[in-house]
Amino acid sequence: MHELLKQYQLLLLALLIFLPLEQLFSARPQKIFRRGLLTDMGFLFLNGWLVLIGVIVVVAVATLVNQLIVPSAVKQAVADLPYLVQVLLALLIGDLGVYWTHRILHSVPAMWQIHSVHHAVEELDWLAAVHQHPLDVIFMKAGSLFPLFALGFSLEAIGTYILIYSWQAWLAHANVRLGYGPLRHVLVSPEFHHWHHSSEQEARDKNFAGLFSFYDVLFGSIHLPKGQKPKTFGVDHPMPSGYLALLAYPFMAWAATRKRDNPSST
Ligand SMILES: [Zn+2]
Ligand SMILES: [Zn+2]
Repeated sequence: MHELLKQYQLLLLALLIFLPLEQLFSARPQKIFRRGLLTDMGFLFLNGWLVLIGVIVVVAVATLVNQLIVPSAVKQAVADLPYLVQVLLALLIGDLGVYWTHRILHSVPAMWQIHSVHHAVEELDWLAAVHQHPLDVIFMKAGSLFPLFALGFSLEAIGTYILIYSWQAWLAHANVRLGYGPLRHVLVSPEFHHWHHSSEQEARDKNFAGLFSFYDVLFGSIHLPKGQKPKTFGVDHPMPSGYLALLAYPFMAWAATRKRDNPSST
C-alpha cells in the first residue's frame, strides 16, 4: 500500500518533468490529450494491484531459493559488496533478465499475445510505458528481480534498481528527440526504444534491452539506423482499445488459437 502511494508520488513528478520536455523537444507532433489516454488511466491506477500479487509470489519463491539452494559463499560475497557496486551489478543482472524475458515475450506466440498489449500503442509518449498487461509486467519483474532476490542483493540496492528502471521506462517511451550520440550502442535511449515499437518490418523483434543497448549489440538484435526515425508504431493485427478488453485480450487470443488448432473440441 505504502509502496503504491510512493509510486503515485513519483508519477506526479514524472508528469511535471515529461510533459514540458515533450512539448519543447518532441520527436513527433502529438497532442497531450492523445488517443488512448483514458485506457492508460486504467493501466496506471488498476494494474499496480494485479502486479503486486504476482511480484509477492516472485519474491517469495526467490527468497526460498536464496535460503535453500544458493551456496552461503555466494550470498556472503554479494553481501560483502559495497552498496554502489551492488547497484551497478543489479542494473547489469536485472537488465540481462529483462533482455531475455522481453525476447521470449516476442518469440513465443502465447507470450506475444500478452506482450502485444504493450505494442498496441500507436502514439508513443512517456505514459505509454504503463500500457502493459499485468502478466507482462509480472514476467518482466520475474526476469529481473528473481535473480537479484535469489542472489541476496540488499533491499536498498534492489530498491535503487527499481527506481532507476521506472524512470528509464518513462524516458525511453517519451516523445523526445534523444539519441545519446556515441553512447547509443551502450545505453538505451528514447530513439532506441522508439524503434522497438516501430511497425516497420526491418525493426520488428529488435532492441529488447531496457537499460543497456550493448546487450542487443552482443546478442545480435540491434536496429538503430543513423539519421532515420520510425514512421509508424503499433502491431499488424487488430487490438481492442479499452482497458478491460486489453486485460482480456491474451485469454481471448489463446482461446481462439486453441479453437483453430482443435476445431473438433468444444
Ligand atoms: Zn516488446
Ligand atoms: Zn515499450
